[in-house]
Formats: sequence, C-alpha cells, structure tokens
Amino acid sequence: AFEDERYDYIFKLVVVGDSGVGKSSLVNQFCHESFTFDLKSTIGVEFNVKTVEVNGKIIKSQLWDTAGQERYRSVAASYYRGALGAVLVFDVTYTKSFLNLPFWIDEVKRYCADAKILLVGNKTDLKDLRGVTHADAFEFAAANNLMYVESSAKDNGSVGYAFKKLLGEVQSDR
Ligand code: GDP
Repeated sequence: AFEDERYDYIFKLVVVGDSGVGKSSLVNQFCHESFTFDLKSTIGVEFNVKTVEVNGKIIKSQLWDTAGQERYRSVAASYYRGALGAVLVFDVTYTKSFLNLPFWIDEVKRYCADAKILLVGNKTDLKDLRGVTHADAFEFAAANNLMYVESSAKDNGSVGYAFKKLLGEVQSDR
C-alpha cells in the first residue's frame, strides 16, 4: 500500500562475519520475526528490507546478507558499496569467529570506510557453550572503536535492539 512506502530515510546495511555465526538468522528474525533452524545457504547475496521507527524517524533499511559467499573469502566490493552501516557478527560459542574479527573490520574499512560498525556477539542463548566472555568482547570493541551488543537470533527483542541501535547511529549523522 502507498502508506507502506513512506519513510524518512533509506539506509543500506551489510551483515558480515564468519560462516555459521548466525547472520541469516539475525536478518530473518529482524525482517520476518521468526527463527528457523537449518536455513539453507545459497550462493549470492540475500536482500531483505525492513522499515522501523527510530528516534521518531521512519527508516527503511536494506539488509545485505552474504548468503554463504564469505566461506570463500570473496565477498565482492559491490556488496559493500554504499553501505552506511555494518553489522559485524561473531558467535560467542565459537572463539575462532571472534579471533577472525580483524579480517572483517579491515574489509569493511576498505570498502565502506565511513560505515558505522556494530559488533554483535550472537548465540547468547547457548550459555553453557560460551567461549567468549562479555568482558573480552566489550574490551575488543572499545579498542577498535566499535559499538557492542549481544544477541540471540531466537530472541526478537535482542535482535531488534541491535539493528535499531545501528540504524539510530547512522541516522544521527544525517
Ligand atoms: P550464517 O552462516 O552466518 O548466515 O549463519 P546462519 O544464520 O545460517 O546460522 C548458522 C546456524 O546457527 C544455524 O543452524 C542457526 O539455526 C544457528 N543459529 C543462528 N543464530 C543462533 C542463535 O542465536 N542461537 C542458537 N542457538 N543458534 C543460532
């Protein structure tokens, strides 16, 4: 409907991080408010749109998800082009995905230097399997000038909070 098309801003966000950390699940939860196991990875780019209100402004976000390309470390420059924000995801139960964060920070800075970056420690529902502490992640984020939040893709509240935090940060610059 016409009314659905009204918005104050349109922002492109990219979602990056190692394979399996929960990128597609987070985008799905934010855009469709559901969580499904066994999401099929496809080759290419997944593209989702979600309109939310942040700070009294209607923001239409275009979410780009790598959909598996990151396994080959070949995410294309065009993926990043024009992105104003990046959701950088690691898995709090998988330390390697945390140790790989500098690779992703370099990528984002190379291809979209001005993008705001939100670091997201995902899968916090798996408390017993946790390998990266909140303190370690928070310290890493501070040292790299990133915002930090934690999420579970199963929990709509934490996911909405994360995306809206980044959108609000992007919007505050406009
Ligand atoms: P991607 O490769 O980064 O896009 O990761 P996916 O979204 O495909 O998720 C990889 C696997 O982790 C899937 O089996 C998901 O169901 C699972 N997963 C993703 N996020 C969470 C989460 O927050 N908690 C739990 N328990 N599992 C998750």
